Amino acid sequence: MGQVVMDRGAGNVTGSGPGANGHAATKIRSYAPATGELLGEVKVTSADEVKRAVERARRAQEAWGALPVEERCERVLRFRDAIVDRADEIVDLLVRECGKPRHEALLHEVMVAADLATFFAKAAPRVLAPHEVKLHMFKHRRSFIHYKPRGVVAVISPWNYPFQLPLRDAIIALLAGNAVVIKPSEVTPLIAQKAKEVWDSAGLPEDLLQIVPGYGPTGAALIEAQPDFVILTGSVATGRRVAAACGERLIPCVMELGGKAPLIACADADVERTARAIVFGGFSNAGQVCVSVERVYAHREVHDKLVDRVVELTKELRQGDPSAEFVDVGAIIFPHQIDVAEKHIADAVGKGASVRAGGKRREGPGQFFEPTVIDGCNHQMTVMTEEIFGPIVPFMRVSTEEEALRLANDSHLGLNAYVFSRDRDHATRLAERVEAGSVLVNDVLTNGGTPDTPFGGIKASGFGRAMGEEGLREMCNIKHVSVERVGMGSKDPLWYPYTAQSYGWFRKGLRALFSGGGLLQRIGEIL
Ligand code: NAD
Repeated sequence: MGQVVMDRGAGNVTGSGPGANGHAATKIRSYAPATGELLGEVKVTSADEVKRAVERARRAQEAWGALPVEERCERVLRFRDAIVDRADEIVDLLVRECGKPRHEALLHEVMVAADLATFFAKAAPRVLAPHEVKLHMFKHRRSFIHYKPRGVVAVISPWNYPFQLPLRDAIIALLAGNAVVIKPSEVTPLIAQKAKEVWDSAGLPEDLLQIVPGYGPTGAALIEAQPDFVILTGSVATGRRVAAACGERLIPCVMELGGKAPLIACADADVERTARAIVFGGFSNAGQVCVSVERVYAHREVHDKLVDRVVELTKELRQGDPSAEFVDVGAIIFPHQIDVAEKHIADAVGKGASVRAGGKRREGPGQFFEPTVIDGCNHQMTVMTEEIFGPIVPFMRVSTEEEALRLANDSHLGLNAYVFSRDRDHATRLAERVEAGSVLVNDVLTNGGTPDTPFGGIKASGFGRAMGEEGLREMCNIKHVSVERVGMGSKDPLWYPYTAQSYGWFRKGLRALFSGGGLLQRIGEIL
């Protein structure tokens, strides 16, 4: 086959010509979004190569899965150490390939990955230890729960946190005893290569953690290669395709998909803290975050003060090439994301909203979109209802917190949400009623970096959990082993023969055990 070289991100463009969706591509070119500079080329993995990678991973997993969990932890910590040792070169590449500020590359990518590895290496022996479940009725038996590796875990990941997101899933899967094959985003192929290079340099088994760069079809080929588990982090549209492909093959999966995080600013919100949180939560990583503040419902008591302060703070942000200087906001990963931002703004302005800050793309070189604040928004506007994934914060004025809550819940997405109030208990009660996988009170974004807690969405934001004990156990087959406590002899009253006499006993047993609270409850209390 001749070479078809595609620019990164081009795989996201639909069309019927050669190379549309990456079907015919054999190489990916990676450009710096902040400068347009060509950074490198990566070979696309063919479907056959993907299949062989999964076969090699399967063989590597046998020995790895048989190791005591403590030894797996010790080896994963070696990987963590290699990441920390090489932090500067990883940060440099993240800054150049993603156009993200140096602080974000260090804190939100390298630090998060190192912390997650440390946290789970400590937690895994306890969380994965077999434990007994006390049976409420079958007291003559003992039940034990074991957490077994699933086998080969396929990790399909996006470009917005191209280091920590695939490594998050990979590290958790590895600690649980699995081998991992990562299909990194076609938009950030070089950073994925770097992660693999760091793994290999730590002297860890090469086939245990592999990467298969490529476009969507490479991801599809990975699922066709029949891994034992799939975790996708990506858009809702891709989630539907990947979940369907997994369903067809009965491969269990986790879907970490898009978000539309609402922020409710209550009447008593601390305006300064809320404003700073909105600016950070809306413009971190240039708004290209699944848990970005994507819509603000501000109580009329604080609305005007809050919008004014957010506009002021937004105008103070420094945007530019993060590889040349310390900036607050970097570049937009590829031109399509800028088109999306412009469409949302045009739709909102056409329906009566006002742009209070930003609102435009910046002239090249590089792809930049100004941090943008819009007010006067409502749910007729796409900016309030569809994922933006760019540096735009839309505001809507509400008269009551109940109205804010109803609007926050009026979404097909439910990943993160935020509530700001000076009354912590009140905010917590409100948080309990918001439909989302995670709700933070008086804070934004941080749960992406707390490995202790489960992360994931409801509704079209996906299912299953990454991180937390739940996320670690998600990477396991849960196995129940049941053993007799006392010998029952050769006959068991529940087995054959079915006689009229035994039926009578069981009928009496039904009443004795369950009517009016019954014997069962008393037995449970005694034992
Ligand atoms: P995307 O859906 O375009 O791509 C995600 C990955 O899926 C890429 O590696 C892509 O090549 C692959 N893919 C595409 N088609 C496939 C197919 N048919 N089979 C298998 N794999 C396929 O997403 P993106 O643009 O890279 O990332 C942005 C999206 O990710 C946003 O919607 C964002 O909200 C979401 N996201 C979610 C989380 C979360 O934890 N919930 C975190 C980060 C990003």
